[in-house]
Amino acid sequence: MDCETPLTQMNTNLLSLHDLSVHFAHGGGQTTVVDRVSLTLGAGEVLGIVGESGSGKSQLLFALMGLLASNGNATGHALFDGQDLLSLPTKALDRVRGASLSMIFQDPMTALNPYKRIGDQLAEGLIHHQGLPRAAALAEASRMLDRVRIPDAPRAARRYPHEFSGGMRQRVMIAMALLVKPKLLLADEPTTALDVTIQAQVLDLMLEIAHETGTAIILVTHDLGVVARICDRVAVLYGGRIMEEGPAETMLSDPRHPYARGLLATTPRLEAAITPRLPTIPGAPRSGGAMLPSCPFAPRCSDKMPACDHMPPLRDIGPERRLACHLEPAP
Ligand code: SF4
Repeated sequence: MDCETPLTQMNTNLLSLHDLSVHFAHGGGQTTVVDRVSLTLGAGEVLGIVGESGSGKSQLLFALMGLLASNGNATGHALFDGQDLLSLPTKALDRVRGASLSMIFQDPMTALNPYKRIGDQLAEGLIHHQGLPRAAALAEASRMLDRVRIPDAPRAARRYPHEFSGGMRQRVMIAMALLVKPKLLLADEPTTALDVTIQAQVLDLMLEIAHETGTAIILVTHDLGVVARICDRVAVLYGGRIMEEGPAETMLSDPRHPYARGLLATTPRLEAAITPRLPTIPGAPRSGGAMLPSCPFAPRCSDKMPACDHMPPLRDIGPERRLACHLEPAP
């Protein structure tokens, strides 16, 4: 799909983003952190959005959830299940959130209420969105806690978030997000705070339950190892723009964009010979300021050429693959 795809054609997808931008107002000016992102997601699909800090990936998710900071606003369209999330009134958006759209946050302690028992917090969504009686909702909550392998789930449901370890709290968040069987789960770096062995368990569990419930996932991460483990497709974001997009398997084996290649080269691999130091991408990620007409990666790109003073369009380069780079000539 390219940016010129008509909105009517995108309705067959579970989610269709069309020219979605996110801006923040400050001191009389405006910073654009996501710039005209167009993407589609099918039912049950797992899409990884990859990029360094400041690439705009988390703000993209917050825009979909209607959770931008008060000085932020999103423009464009985000058609989800037949409705444009960006133009829904608050009450209608509330009905979507927690029912067919849910989110797992990076830090579960910011999302869990420290004064409420875990079971009550899980049951809330079922009572509010599905009209279940409290006792039935608590029983469902307890079953889901057991499903995410929280030991002695009925007892754990009566506990408070601070009584759980970091890994258990993240599993509670997964239980809460998937309990209502949403059509789409947004996961913002869900395993960053966990150690590597727990990370793998939590990711596998999230994927397993999402497959059972038919839930599609957008997973925001800076970790290509995580993408390789669970994603069907991947979009690489830099400076708020999509640089490359395609099936995870082909993108990870044959990245075309210099930034995507750099990300892959800087990802540690277990099977690789031990080297004294991993390569790094020179320079610092772009942060803030007005969008420039040039390629945002140009200041760090060793392949830069005069044409790069103009942002290349995101265009098809093969089956389901899109690239925004002047290096690859148009077919
Ligand atoms: Fe590098 Fe130019 Fe491609 Fe940007 S468009 S990544 S500067 S070669």
